[in-house]
Amino acid sequence: MPPVVKLSVDADEVPVWRAALARAFAEAGLAVELRLAGETVAPETVSYLVYVPSGPVRDFRPYTGLKALLSLWAGVEKALANPTLPADTPLCRMVDPGMTRGMVEYLVAETLRHHLDLDARRCGPDGGWPQTAPPLAGERRVGVLGLGELGAEVARTLAGLGFVVRGWSRTPKRIEGVRCLAGAAGLDETLSQSEILACVLPRTPATENLLDARAFGLTPRGATIINAGRGELIDDAALLAALDDGRIARATLDVFRVEPLPADHPFRRHPRVFATAHVAAFTRPRSAAAVIAAQIARAEVGLELLHVVDRARGY
Ligand code: NAP
Repeated sequence: MPPVVKLSVDADEVPVWRAALARAFAEAGLAVELRLAGETVAPETVSYLVYVPSGPVRDFRPYTGLKALLSLWAGVEKALANPTLPADTPLCRMVDPGMTRGMVEYLVAETLRHHLDLDARRCGPDGGWPQTAPPLAGERRVGVLGLGELGAEVARTLAGLGFVVRGWSRTPKRIEGVRCLAGAAGLDETLSQSEILACVLPRTPATENLLDARAFGLTPRGATIINAGRGELIDDAALLAALDDGRIARATLDVFRVEPLPADHPFRRHPRVFATAHVAAFTRPRSAAAVIAAQIARAEVGLELLHVVDRARGY
């Protein structure tokens, strides 16, 4: 009997995921029985749940035969907060080459926009002609907080463009062209040496409010903050205070404590905040479905699953 794979995503996303998964399973030569949420299937017969925490399946207790929970999201704080998450079933987060490309493109675009200060160089209706030479990348110090699947590729790409790159993670890393730092001293060096700081950390108890008044006190005066990790990494009030006193010149924010960002939130109208609607890096069905197929193929032949979440660490 082929294993039963159940898909639990938001209703409007079902057709695209069903098609992408069916194609990926066929391409992998994997025989599975794909079931959608709402289709009649005995929960205890389901081997793999491919899901998002906002989807219809939220109570995992009837799913007693699960071999793995395969999340379609990279961030797992919402998945971990589910009280019915089975203790002994591996939870895998999504590592998708398409998502990684998206994050690289978003963070590189914003880094370059701030680096070149294109907004200040615009020829406007005042007849001005602001013709000053922008610095080259080799004259710009940038930092990347988080050197995981996404951050490492961002740091590598920025280094490839010639930026002076520091990167920070929990454990030491080696990335060509990047000064990789770890631990408390590494954080302080990264903060104090980054004119543009791009953040792509997960939300965990250890990273919440990492970017607070102390952190903004360490960054060079006039630094730019870009946050595509999670909103909780930033102390909002401290960032607004640092923007208002000029210590932080500009912020690009893609993620927020409350999403959608409330209409009356000061980030929406601050003249030096550029806010986007959690669009930095989407899970891309085509490439992500291939990852799901590969995970199931591994598990079915007894190989270890990849990207299993360490629940104690929180990512
Ligand atoms: P990942 O592969 O798990 O990497 C996480 C990185 O953060 C690792 O380098 C890790 O260090 C580091 N880290 C975690 N806790 C730390 C701590 N306390 N101190 C220092 N470094 C710490 O995750 P990923 O796939 O790169 O994704 C990162 C996050 O991006 C996700 O969790 C999600 O929140 C966010 N995200 C946002 C979007 C968007 O559209 N805005 C899209 C996708 C993901 P080690 O390497 O030493 O473990």
